[in-house]
Amino acid sequence: MPIRRDSFTVLRATMRWRVGLVLGVLVMVLMVALGTLNTQLGLKDTAQLAWVVLAVSGISVVGLLLSPRHLGGTIYFSAVALLLIFVPAFGLYHGRPMQHWAYIFPPLLVFLIRSRPALIGMVLYGIYVVFTLRPLIPTIDIVRFASGYGLLVCFIYTYALLEERAATMLRYYSDHDALTNCFNRRTFNEALEQLTRSRANGKRRTFLLIDIDHFKAINDQHGHLVGDRIITQVAAELVRALHADIPLYRYGGEEFAIILEHASEQEGVELSERLRLAIHEYDFQDLKVSISIGVAEWRSTHANVSAALGHADRALYLAKNAGRNRVMAASALS
Ligand code: GH3
Ligand code: MG
Ligand code: MG
Repeated sequence: MPIRRDSFTVLRATMRWRVGLVLGVLVMVLMVALGTLNTQLGLKDTAQLAWVVLAVSGISVVGLLLSPRHLGGTIYFSAVALLLIFVPAFGLYHGRPMQHWAYIFPPLLVFLIRSRPALIGMVLYGIYVVFTLRPLIPTIDIVRFASGYGLLVCFIYTYALLEERAATMLRYYSDHDALTNCFNRRTFNEALEQLTRSRANGKRRTFLLIDIDHFKAINDQHGHLVGDRIITQVAAELVRALHADIPLYRYGGEEFAIILEHASEQEGVELSERLRLAIHEYDFQDLKVSISIGVAEWRSTHANVSAALGHADRALYLAKNAGRNRVMAASALS
């Protein structure tokens, strides 16, 4: 399955960007308050730290506003993570314990990277903070910090793991068809959108539209449950006959679609023949099942994608008219 920037990835990046912006502004307001308060209290070094954080936050927010949404959030949270790594060392240098800052690190890290590497990062950070605190506070306070921080890491990691698994599940269900388990129409539409977006690269693709022949008759004579079984078996057999990195989409009821990357119409026709034969020869238990396939090539320099899809559909229509159980290429139409 080719890597794609689907709606889930875009949503996640956009959310991260927005949260980054809100937090960035909030941190700036907080730092102005902290800096002013500490200056009034005569705590020069902590006031200095607040001004440093204010400056880094200000620069990060500007960076966030200027950078593309899919990168902005990552840049911003990375900057805050680096800042949080700097703070305990700053505290050690000035002889001031800074453990209250450490509690921000675990939730920030799971926002930035996957849960497992985040767990390693959180634990290492905790050890580092303990190391910087040792000369500054009594052992009992270090134990208190370590217990609180450790519990926080456990909860945050569990939550991140759950969220990751739930997102994977949700993503699978939104990408796949419930009956056949192949990709659904939504994923197909996203793949088409991606083709349209990347039209400048001059590469070619070939579309295959596949339709089960006389399927209504199967439903009428044997019932819808048998019809469902046939659709599932056809999908499984097509997937088996396809190369592992070529996705099969359920395009409609008993229709499937394939997008062949960097393939000519001729290559599409050859693959279609193999698929047609695989279904023709498959044992559907006393049922004769066949498919017809329309093939059309699309180049990014050509007309839009839907026009090419229309050509494949027309080729399929003619394959049906010519007697079914056959492959028809769009170039043969003109
Ligand atoms: P042709 O050879 O021209 O394609 O004829 P056909 O009978 O296959 O074509 P038609 O489009 O008329 O019929 C498709 C039928 O597929 C109609 C619809 O009831 C049935 N169908 C669509 N989705 C499902 C499904 O998920 N399960 C079942 N059992 N039937 C479905
Ligand atoms: Mg049909
Ligand atoms: Mg049909």
